[in-house]
Amino acid sequence: QTIGAAFTDIAARHGDREAIVVRHQGVRLTYAALAVRVDAFASGLLAMGLEPGDRVGIWSPNNLEWVVTQLATAKAGLILVNINPAYRIAELDYCLNKVGCRALIFAQQFKTSDYCAMIAQLAPEAAQTPPGALRAARLPELEWLITIGDGAMAGALPFDAVAVFATPDSDAALDALASSLQPEDPINIQFTSGTTGSPKGATLSHHNILNNGFYSGRRMLLSEQDRLCIPVPLYHCFGMVLGVLACITHGACMVFPGEAFDAAIVLETVADERCTGLHGVPTMFIAELDHPDFAAFDLSTLRTGIMAGAPCPVEVMERVIGQMHMGDITIGYGMTEVSPLSFQTMPGDSLERRVETVGRVHDFVEAKIVDGRGRVVPRGVQGEILFRGYSLMNGYWEDADRTAEAIDARGWIHSGDLATMDEDGYVRITGRAKDMIIRGGENIYPREIEEFLHRHPDVQEAQIFGIPDDRLGETVCAWIRTSNTQLTETTIRDHCRGQIAHYKIPEHIRFVQEFPMTVTGKIQKFAMREIMMAERD
Ligand code: ATP
Ligand code: MG
Repeated sequence: QTIGAAFTDIAARHGDREAIVVRHQGVRLTYAALAVRVDAFASGLLAMGLEPGDRVGIWSPNNLEWVVTQLATAKAGLILVNINPAYRIAELDYCLNKVGCRALIFAQQFKTSDYCAMIAQLAPEAAQTPPGALRAARLPELEWLITIGDGAMAGALPFDAVAVFATPDSDAALDALASSLQPEDPINIQFTSGTTGSPKGATLSHHNILNNGFYSGRRMLLSEQDRLCIPVPLYHCFGMVLGVLACITHGACMVFPGEAFDAAIVLETVADERCTGLHGVPTMFIAELDHPDFAAFDLSTLRTGIMAGAPCPVEVMERVIGQMHMGDITIGYGMTEVSPLSFQTMPGDSLERRVETVGRVHDFVEAKIVDGRGRVVPRGVQGEILFRGYSLMNGYWEDADRTAEAIDARGWIHSGDLATMDEDGYVRITGRAKDMIIRGGENIYPREIEEFLHRHPDVQEAQIFGIPDDRLGETVCAWIRTSNTQLTETTIRDHCRGQIAHYKIPEHIRFVQEFPMTVTGKIQKFAMREIMMAERD
């Protein structure tokens, strides 16, 4: 099935049910009303001359327009290109040119950034040309600028004006596409988080992401009774697949608390909207649990959600189940390249399994764990985890080299993650191969030390990584987030001494307020490593 067909179907069956709530825009729409907006926007895009296969970029924080764009481009057979809201001129330039976008839909501003000013710098020609006639020297393929927001920008079309272009002909063209688009057609270029370096553009099809949304929702036991709070960014597959597509394929209501993550606003949204589900990366759940007003919000309606993207400390999981009432929460594991989830726990799984493992492989996905020579390792032995199945991307957009590095001749994608699998098929993620520290010949897994440090009452969050060392190859470095200004390196080392092997005790310790993060809320160890190395040199 295509995304358009699935959405049309749900809108027909659940037309009068609430489909979407966007708190910061004061928007509430039923499935029927959302479908009207989606069709009008899709028809408008076709009337503007965009054709199936053309790339349309979106550079915006979470809002209604994002969701309308996602569904409308899928219906019109256009390839949506998700652009990180944190990107600035140089990255935007690279991204738009790399995939050759014909249209760019963008928010006028986000936080303190003036997106219009950045676009004006990149495409100054826009001010002199009517909408749709752009010929910018730096962005030769870009024709249309479409702005989300109240203000006007010379040369750009307001988002709501797109639907005005629609004609009976473009409506008919849209109807015809419903039967000619194929599930295998690419519809999305999704960039990876950039946790380990520069982001890669995974090219995904209807089939890839629609099914992944469906199967992920199924593991959460999602139904039309559910209201899912989505504080994770839409630009990332966590928001657009595990949020939007999981809701659409199960008839649930999506609730967006705000443009960007804010713990208090999320808690307030869950309470006011009586949400039954909540998504997040561990860092978000930690911020919610640690919020000073946490106890003031009634979260008793919560039941389920997905926590994914990074390892979850045991203690955090216990609090999410106990204090946030999320007894059915599932842990998900995957990567953008597989649309994104390949492993997920089930609500019925034991607490221990939901705390320690990422569950079992998804339906119609295969997984194996191999050693350095590509041989499958025995159960319980650590190796790199590989996947294959319906959810695997077509490849990185016009990047045959990186695609060939990631996917082998038999169709297995190398995750770069270290894992073990038990007798029942439950998998533990033990770290990123890139993050493993080798100190004087000893393999050190940062996760293990992080878990240990989290047991110290003053440690809010700890991150362990290696930095190069002339004598030992690498040494262990810890960044610790704490609110106790009295906490010292000696206290931390004393806490470790006698409890973990001497070579695992961090040699360099730093106390911080924040970690360097991707917009998806993932901590960038490579950035911390660079800071430590720059200071040393
Ligand atoms: P990049 O590939 O650009 O460096 P990234 O790998 O973080 O960034 P994503 O595709 O967003 O980009 O994230 C996938 C990765 O996130 C996985 O390879 C894994 O390392 C990590 N991850 C996802 N879910 C979990 C989880 N539940 N537990 C541990 N790690 C996880
Ligand atoms: Mg990756």
